[in-house]
Amino acid sequence: MPSEFDLIARYFTRRTTHTRLGVGDDAALIIPTPGQELVISTDLLVEGTHFLADTDAEALGWKTLAVNVSDLAAMGAQPRWATLGIAVPPAPSFAWLDDFARGFFACADTFGVDLIGGDTTRGPRAFCVTILGEAPAGAALRRSGAQIGDSIWISGRPGRAALGLAHLQGRTVLAEPQLGDCLAALHRPQARVALGLALRGLATAAIDVSDGLLADLGHILEQSARAARLQIPALPAAGLERDCLLAGGDDYELLFTAPASRDKDIAALTDALQLPLTRIGQITSAPPGELLVCDDGGNVITPVQRGYDHFQQ
Ligand code: ADP
Ligand code: MG
Repeated sequence: MPSEFDLIARYFTRRTTHTRLGVGDDAALIIPTPGQELVISTDLLVEGTHFLADTDAEALGWKTLAVNVSDLAAMGAQPRWATLGIAVPPAPSFAWLDDFARGFFACADTFGVDLIGGDTTRGPRAFCVTILGEAPAGAALRRSGAQIGDSIWISGRPGRAALGLAHLQGRTVLAEPQLGDCLAALHRPQARVALGLALRGLATAAIDVSDGLLADLGHILEQSARAARLQIPALPAAGLERDCLLAGGDDYELLFTAPASRDKDIAALTDALQLPLTRIGQITSAPPGELLVCDDGGNVITPVQRGYDHFQQ
């Protein structure tokens, strides 16, 4: 059986590209870029709560880092460094760790993140990443800046991860090519870093959709003390597809607000970034917290569930 140190050396020690001192000492040393603020976020993934025991290890490695990169994308920050805390059962399988590390570093390479340290221990499987990024002083996007009249936008095609999960849980049966598309969204979410960077100075508020579109919009409304009216183009009439779109989590798309006067600038980003951006509503002067969802005809519909809350299931 490998020692803790063998595991760290074998699976989690890689050359870094922009770090003074990485894995191997008592702590890491990084050199923040002058004029930039550090942007820091942590996410904990626990087996049985955030991923299924039989989840593909490489996909899990990717997702463990990608969900953290996504938080920085939502802040308009450039991801730079990460630490990784892992708990694995005694006598972990080499093949499993190999696959996990491959997925993790594929994501790290994709987004330019140096792994600079962590902690390794025995226990029920769990992974905790702390990610550090940078944004010019004062430029980071927050949840609290939405203004009355702002347009509300969503990137990508949300709802696919939840549909993929519904398929895996036997709640629906998807056929190709939709199945592959939805499973890719679930297992290999793409953090929208380029979009987050492009939204600096443009978006008034932003959040990444991890708990569901309505739930995460609720966070923006709460922190901005605003109300919203959604009219989502081509919203499915009812059923699972609509539920997944409105309340499904795990998509890691960016949901953001921007002045209506910038609608053209936002729409232009679709081409520049090769990423669909859809205007799905606006911030209104209704009482703070009110969230109306309308069908294509503008009639108010009663939404299903707002999203996922770990303490209210
Ligand atoms: P200490 O006992 O001083 O906390 P550790 O033995 O836990 O040191 O870690 C030794 C080195 O390996 C440290 O640089 C630590 O950051 C790094 N490290 C430990 N686990 C991981 C991991 N899972 N991924 C990356 N680096 C790790
Ligand atoms: Mg330690």
